[in-house]
Amino acid sequence: MSDFTAYPHPVLAVPCPDCRRRAGAWCQRPSGHKASDFHLARKAEADRAFIERHGPDASIVRTAGGWSIDPRGRVGIRPTPEPRQGNLL
Ligand SMILES: [Zn+2]
Repeated sequence: MSDFTAYPHPVLAVPCPDCRRRAGAWCQRPSGHKASDFHLARKAEADRAFIERHGPDASIVRTAGGWSIDPRGRVGIRPTPEPRQGNLL
């Protein structure tokens, strides 16, 4: 089970389906350099896993000590159930 508060960025909680980096490791470009952003597939997977674990109304917020889950953070923000991408970013 992914822990979205355990890493410097919530998307790091899931492995990347694109460049195959494991959870906790930043995405990598084909050149071997660290990417400046996550692959879209990983963001989508992180969002999906986040909703699966915490529900569609939850959001994750940055705190002084890292990250915390707000179970009702999305209420009132998103007018429709879709799109579901973007909970984390
Ligand atoms: Zn990647």
